[in-house]
Amino acid sequence: MTGPTRCARFLVLVICLLAAVGINVQRATANPSAGNADQGFTQWLQELRQEALAMGLSAATVDAALKDVTPVARVIEQDRSQREFTLTFTRYLRSSVTETRVERAQRLMAEHRELLQRVEARYGVQPRFLVSFWGLESNFGDYTGGFSVIRALATLAHDSRRSAFFRAELLYALRILDEGHITLDRMTGSWAGAMGQVQFIPSTFVNFAVDFDGDGRRDIWNSLPDIFASAANYLSQEGWRGDETWGREVALPPGFDFGLASLKLSKPLADWSQVHGIRKADGNPLPKADLDASIVLPSGHRGPAFLVYRNYRTILIWNRSILYALAVGHLADRIVGAAPLAALPDEQPISLKAIEEMQALLNAKGFDAGEPDGLVGRQTRAALSAYQRAIGVPADGYPTAEIIERLRRD
Ligand code: CA
Repeated sequence: MTGPTRCARFLVLVICLLAAVGINVQRATANPSAGNADQGFTQWLQELRQEALAMGLSAATVDAALKDVTPVARVIEQDRSQREFTLTFTRYLRSSVTETRVERAQRLMAEHRELLQRVEARYGVQPRFLVSFWGLESNFGDYTGGFSVIRALATLAHDSRRSAFFRAELLYALRILDEGHITLDRMTGSWAGAMGQVQFIPSTFVNFAVDFDGDGRRDIWNSLPDIFASAANYLSQEGWRGDETWGREVALPPGFDFGLASLKLSKPLADWSQVHGIRKADGNPLPKADLDASIVLPSGHRGPAFLVYRNYRTILIWNRSILYALAVGHLADRIVGAAPLAALPDEQPISLKAIEEMQALLNAKGFDAGEPDGLVGRQTRAALSAYQRAIGVPADGYPTAEIIERLRRD
């Protein structure tokens, strides 16, 4: 892991430096095997064409879609780019749930109320959540990505890093074209092939998109009925409960055992309330409901705490980022008038280099954080928690500059 990761990061650095001094970076960012790439790509495309035809797609669709397709350097560049710092919840939430976005979401929910209620009646997903996903995925349709989905997916499918995954997505994309849901020139999306106003990748489209306006096409690019119903159908199929919310911000009692904060641990709401002393963020008792819940601490013990329910786990199927899932829930709450979160700490992003150093230091002290890779995964959090317990500080498994400094000193 470490070797290629470092290498990719170095490459990104070089590209940034070249860009900074105004050098044309086309050459530097092209596929490393660019020497005989043209010939190799053409032959690869021929094989893909055969596979698409064998699946029963029409030659007219496939040939039109693959005509003139060449690898897109900017797609590989995006795929190789890596963050240099951790993304903090404070920073993420402040950029994703802004006052402007909350107000616009409220206006749009009022404007489309009748449609959203029809979608809710059919699929059982509350309008505020549909508008929240719509806002976070594409800023209500403003940003759907300007890449040709076929070209982007062909680039990634031909590239060696995740070729099997993207090859399957490319074949799904050809199928979507062949079924006539969208025309080739309007089939745009993100560099990774996420399409339309709900940013579905082609396999999600094929499995979950629906034609709600009844024109025979599933159009998640332009038709609001199709957009809302497709999102609702996806959530519904993945277990969404229309009579439950996603979770809530809570207040933890003094001395709370942070080892209980894990999505792997679910307890009835009554237990959290009566056994562990958790209350609503405003200090009032938790509601009485027959629900299982888990605790999420996105900024460690100094930040806000959340109890999350089943719908939160469904949001994680849509996008497995715990920060994204909290933002979807919080924006949905804000749309219907909830207050901003009680407290967002001033968090300093940590460089991934410092995370790597922290992992190495934990390993050296006998707390197994795995191969240092700069990524804060389950094993790293467990190792950090064990170290925190050993030195008698709150064991939240959350990396901060202070704890890394402490590790260096100890
Ligand atoms: Ca339609």
